[in-house]
Amino acid sequence: MADHYVTVRVPGKVNLQLSVGPKRSDGFHEIATVFQAVSLFDDVKVTLTDETDRDQRFSIEIKADHPHGIPTDKSNLAYVAAELMYKKFDLDDALNISINKSIPVAGGMAGGSANAAGVIVALDALFSLGLSRTEMEEIGSEIGSDVPFSIAGGTAIGTGRGEQLTPALARGSYSWVFALSSNGLSTPAVYGECDRLREGMEISSPQVSESLMHALRSADAKALGKALQNDLQPAACSIRPALRLILDVGMDYGALGGIVSGSGPTVAFLAEDEDHALDLVVALTSSGVVGNVVRASGPVVGATVIDR
Ligand code: ATP
Repeated sequence: MADHYVTVRVPGKVNLQLSVGPKRSDGFHEIATVFQAVSLFDDVKVTLTDETDRDQRFSIEIKADHPHGIPTDKSNLAYVAAELMYKKFDLDDALNISINKSIPVAGGMAGGSANAAGVIVALDALFSLGLSRTEMEEIGSEIGSDVPFSIAGGTAIGTGRGEQLTPALARGSYSWVFALSSNGLSTPAVYGECDRLREGMEISSPQVSESLMHALRSADAKALGKALQNDLQPAACSIRPALRLILDVGMDYGALGGIVSGSGPTVAFLAEDEDHALDLVVALTSSGVVGNVVRASGPVVGATVIDR
């Protein structure tokens, strides 16, 4: 075996659109979503170790400004991914998984899924498994709906639970500003609130927005800002009313569009360009309604080996 360790960089995502259909019999919701990978990255480093304790085959180490809430046991999605890969490919060596986190935790930006994606791509490289991107995405879909996109990156349409991906024809690069919250929101809780708010309503099948796809094809940031749409936003705002205020402040300061990212509570604002994004960061920070505001751009590539 040539390598002793492999480091993979994996991006967070924003849902430009999240159309949520009725609840399925398996408890999941059929969705149609347009993902964009953005330049907030986690680095996942897998290192072979000589640990002999069978229960300790995978050790997990987290490096983050706010590591609380991130499990280091079998429930960490990185661990789940390692177990699945070991089972599928009959692997045996003990492994340390070290995750350097910049993607907000429980922020609606697929941080956990990104770490699972990082492990799949890292183990493919570490053990020279020779898997194609599609094969890795298929393995990822066994772990969670957002894992295949974390591997794919770019801009893509997700259907089913979000795991069935089609690349989207998208031009241009977009400047984003993310208003982060220190307390996450639980994705199942937000879906539950969405169901509650929709009680008694006729819910149609999820659809990708034609105006949004047109905006992406023509690299029209203004039109994209207007077309951003998230069916989970009312539910996220119902659980966390402060999100409405953050959305209002960002729009008042001239964002082209504002949206709760996925199940929240991160709020994403689209800016005209990098200078405008910087102005928005200053305005949002000085408004006092948001603690932490960061800039990012998208689309960026999916999980990529950066060191070995
Ligand atoms: P999504 O957008 O896919 O719904 P999210 O970004 O809202 O996800 P995550 O950051 O993935 O949320 O975290 C959700 C929960 O998953 C956390 O509160 C934590 O308990 C658990 N979790 C498991 N593995 C990880 C991981 N590697 N990093 C962060 N959280 C993890």
